[in-house]
Amino acid sequence: MTQYIYSFGGGKAEGNASQKNLLGGKGANLAEMAILGLPVPAGFTISTDCCNDYFRAGGKLPEQLYCELDKAMSKIEQFMGKKFGDPKNPLLVSSRSGARSSMPGMMETVLNVGLCPATIAGLIKQTGNPWFVYDAYRRLIMMYSDVVMEKAEGLEPKDGMGIRLHLEMMLNDLKNDRGYSTDTEITAEEMSVLCDKFKRKIAQHLGVEFPDDPREQLLGSIGAVFKSWNGKRAVSYRRIEHIPDTWGTAVNVQSMVFGNMGENSATGVAFTRDPSTGVNTFYGEWLPNAQGEDVVAGIRTPNPLNNDTKSDHNRHLPSLEEAMPQIYGELARIRTILEHHYKDMQDIEFTIEQGTLYMLQCRVGKRTGTAALNMAMDMVEEGLIDEPTMVNRLHPNQLDEMLHPIVDPEAAKEAKVLVQGLPAGPGGACGQIVFTSDDAVYWKRKGKSVILVRDETNPEDIEGMRAAKGILTARGGMTSHAALVARGWGKCCIVGAGALKIKSNLKELHAGGKIYREGDFLTLNGTTGIAYEGKLKMKDATANPKFRQFMAIADKYRTMKVRTNAETPKDAAQALEFGAEGIGLFRTEHMFYGADSEKPLFLLRKVILSKTPHEREIALNELYPFIKKEMQGTLEIMDGKPVTFRLLDPPLHEFVPHLRENQEELSRELGIDIEEIEKRSKALEETNPMMGHRGVRLGITFPEITKMQFKAIFEASAELIKLGKSPLPEIMVPVTCNEKELIFTKRLCVEVYEDVLKRHGVDSIAHQFGTMIEIPRAALMSHKMAEHAEFFSFGTNDLTQMTFGFSRDDIGSFMNDYIDNAILDADPFATLDQEAVGSLIEISVKKGRETRPDIKLGICGEHGGDPQSIEFCHKVGLTYVSCSPYRVPVARLAAAQAAIKYIKPS
Ligand code: ADP
Ligand code: MG
Ligand code: MG
Repeated sequence: MTQYIYSFGGGKAEGNASQKNLLGGKGANLAEMAILGLPVPAGFTISTDCCNDYFRAGGKLPEQLYCELDKAMSKIEQFMGKKFGDPKNPLLVSSRSGARSSMPGMMETVLNVGLCPATIAGLIKQTGNPWFVYDAYRRLIMMYSDVVMEKAEGLEPKDGMGIRLHLEMMLNDLKNDRGYSTDTEITAEEMSVLCDKFKRKIAQHLGVEFPDDPREQLLGSIGAVFKSWNGKRAVSYRRIEHIPDTWGTAVNVQSMVFGNMGENSATGVAFTRDPSTGVNTFYGEWLPNAQGEDVVAGIRTPNPLNNDTKSDHNRHLPSLEEAMPQIYGELARIRTILEHHYKDMQDIEFTIEQGTLYMLQCRVGKRTGTAALNMAMDMVEEGLIDEPTMVNRLHPNQLDEMLHPIVDPEAAKEAKVLVQGLPAGPGGACGQIVFTSDDAVYWKRKGKSVILVRDETNPEDIEGMRAAKGILTARGGMTSHAALVARGWGKCCIVGAGALKIKSNLKELHAGGKIYREGDFLTLNGTTGIAYEGKLKMKDATANPKFRQFMAIADKYRTMKVRTNAETPKDAAQALEFGAEGIGLFRTEHMFYGADSEKPLFLLRKVILSKTPHEREIALNELYPFIKKEMQGTLEIMDGKPVTFRLLDPPLHEFVPHLRENQEELSRELGIDIEEIEKRSKALEETNPMMGHRGVRLGITFPEITKMQFKAIFEASAELIKLGKSPLPEIMVPVTCNEKELIFTKRLCVEVYEDVLKRHGVDSIAHQFGTMIEIPRAALMSHKMAEHAEFFSFGTNDLTQMTFGFSRDDIGSFMNDYIDNAILDADPFATLDQEAVGSLIEISVKKGRETRPDIKLGICGEHGGDPQSIEFCHKVGLTYVSCSPYRVPVARLAAAQAAIKYIKPS
């Protein structure tokens, strides 16, 4: 029989940190902290298995659970010397959600379970603090009615206003009536009357009585936590984070400790190191006389934990270090214990009940990319972790964030400061103001960059936060919801900008004596916490000095090479800067698009529309210098490093002239009439150009086009050799499916090569001849292809297109439906389909190596910059990956991590 419940407390636990899948992250770590002898209130974890069984049974708690539950509850009762539901000496518990990986604020927690008229009197007698007891009761009623009675029942609030909001309004009305500004001014008597009003409101609004029976409360809250796994917010968060629905959540039932028992009680959140910068200082926030959720909810500006955590916002508030030095000392000691034990930065929750410290949670803390890099390197120096662990501490995509733009400091000097808040998420962001999550999503769809401006964010805003370029909130601290989420995503974010007055209903923002409206531009500097009016210039991040050092260490472990896809000397230089070891794809067609393409494009059209070899030869001779120049420039920059030139692969339809004036110009130039031009253009139209007269096929029909390119490559190289350089061109034939195409093309290559050597008087030009593998037939015929190709480069864009039969230009109309209906997990053009496209690659690698053991193998599709796909490339033994210049560091790190993962035992 499976065990559903795992107890912890009193220096012992049935579970431990390795059981995250079964106990959820929170439960596993509570058990681990208990084993470490830290002060954890006793409790137990109901496993994720139970959650799945609950859903399987159509939302019913399994029979077996009840018996285990009774046993586990009596264990807590023994530890705490209290009894659940006991009128004289009542035990209260919390019922907390906790999935395998943290989903901050996405699921539900109910505090103070077990409080009811029968237990209230006893608790008042015990604590001598009626205010505290009624405050706890009021919180239970609010949370329970919201979480268990409304959300878990799937009730959609009729007037758009949930029960919790109604109750909050009643609380505010009471304060306004009496002229109170804080909850603590409310008297115990008033609080007690309010609780009764709450219960009447609930009965009237939801049509069900609030349950004043402790056991019913306990069972209700357990079920509700399970149900919250399938709540709207949790589901949408899982989609974004690619968390499988099948994991389920655990429930942690834990005896309550109270941070709201007076001035020697408190609650707080801390990080064992600074999560924004990585600096090794204890970082956190706390609130005196408050209960857990108050800090994270961002309702009050929290106090700083210590001197290191003081900022302009909280300097006036006493730190924990000052207010309770002894407890701070104990917490600091726990910080060290946790870091040494987990060997990573931890995010912790603690509560102080009348001068006694309790630990309520610890988990690996979310951090910015910069912080991840800095702390990983520090920890190696401190002897906490080894180098491979350090390399694994940074997700490749977090590098992106470091290479991304920041607000140009020069531009910032001139700009009008709108407000200063806390720097919660890194980098810079510039966009138009929106006030709601829905607007953010809507504007983003219309292609706009937006800054989401809110008083505070809550888990319901998740999609809007995702859509926004940056987030600005008026309330909340560094551990508020907005800060936590933004940091996890590496998104620019400023929180706690208290000087902002936000009037969401009017869609207005008041700051610095001015009014800003929806659509106005703002610029955020998430590194300093300053928001500026208008659109400021952005600048590339000046590389963290540790960045290069980190990458150099990662490179030691990497076995695959990383090249770049680049076609201009400028891109090539940028890629070199990022550590590219050559070019894996130079597309000759690039010259015919964009800036300065007019002349070469005209000449290309001339080539395409030429009818006789003679006409074509003239046009090709004119085009030649343009092509040679770009090739030479790139070879020169990449001196000593390989450059893969792909022969022209122009989809003809994209280059045929359609404008009258272009046609006229060509007609003059070629000396033929315009009707003839039109006729020739028409003749080139194809029904299915993606599978049309392109790539190698063009060179079979018009060998002179291919020969011109060979000439450009070899002459460019010969000239460089004479200047003492070492060009390493690699010639890549695209869209092949048959080895005879390679034989045909190679003959032309040899012919031109010999001719260039003779004319330039050079002995040899080091070069290689290879092909792209982008048609399934080529992959299957790789043993034959390898007889003539010295290298393969997997063109996974086309290979994916032809394997799936999905046109990559047309997937937009149906890909989302495929993903929504879970027919595909991911867009195969973004993440390599390892099952089928991957099999073709594996077959090709194997067959290619059979014929030519030292064949060079690379990938040059978009997948070459995707970490998951890179791991696959490593696994199947590719020689290199090639990706766009900005992805080069990402690919280097992903390749290093793959190498570490698959290290061969020596
Ligand atoms: P989340 O996963 O959203 O952080 P938690 O389960 O951690 O939710 O609970 C929310 C808040 O309630 C936290 O601040 C936590 O510290 C507090 N809390 C939970 N259980 C207890 C308890 N037994 N005693 C005191 N505070 C608690
Ligand atoms: Mg928590
Ligand atoms: Mg292709």
